[in-house]
Amino acid sequence: MQIHLHPEIFETVKRGTKNVEARVFDEKRQRLELGDALIFLKRPDEIERLYGHVTGLKRFKDFAELADAYTIERLYSNKYTKEQYLALFPEFYSEAEITKYGTVAIEFELDDGGKLCEAFAMENAEEAVKHIELERIENYGDMAYGHNLHTWDDGHRIFCRCGKCGGYFLMQYSEYHGIGEEKDVYYTDYFPVSTPAEADKLNRLYNGFTIEQKFPGRYLLRDSNRGPNWSNQ
Ligand SMILES: [Zn+2]
Repeated sequence: MQIHLHPEIFETVKRGTKNVEARVFDEKRQRLELGDALIFLKRPDEIERLYGHVTGLKRFKDFAELADAYTIERLYSNKYTKEQYLALFPEFYSEAEITKYGTVAIEFELDDGGKLCEAFAMENAEEAVKHIELERIENYGDMAYGHNLHTWDDGHRIFCRCGKCGGYFLMQYSEYHGIGEEKDVYYTDYFPVSTPAEADKLNRLYNGFTIEQKFPGRYLLRDSNRGPNWSNQ
């Protein structure tokens, strides 16, 4: 679930004081479960993001009853009163919707860094590639922030968890389409990245080629001609 926040309120999430988001308990929110991922986007450009997950879901009759159960710091910001906070909702929800569905307090925590996949601690690149068992968490597609997330002709980036050790990494997959007699070449890079926030930062900073040149540290690369290797760091 994506939560778009005013810059001032985004900062209270970042500081860790705001950790409750209120919503009408409509069909979309009824599907929320504990542990579900939350992405907080800072308005207006939404480049800066925070990642978290749902730790509690509590239902209330309306927003006033919900606001009674928490401090204003947890709901919004201590620069405002609960009356000012409650005055925000009529812009988004009608009385009829609130009566029909009731409300839900989505309690959350920001993600602290997960651990890296154990492959990055291995010396032998063959063994490292063999260790990795790819589980997709978030597919960023082939393009973001106005540049390609792959080298050459086609590809994409995915934030992944390793099914074997539970550690994280960012994968970049690329294809070179051979011309005439040339063979196609397939490239896979595995970058040690432990949170979606770090992966998103790399997506913003680097296109497919510059991430290979400028990634600060060792990473694993594999191409269909040469097999797996560590980058020269
Ligand atoms: Zn692993």
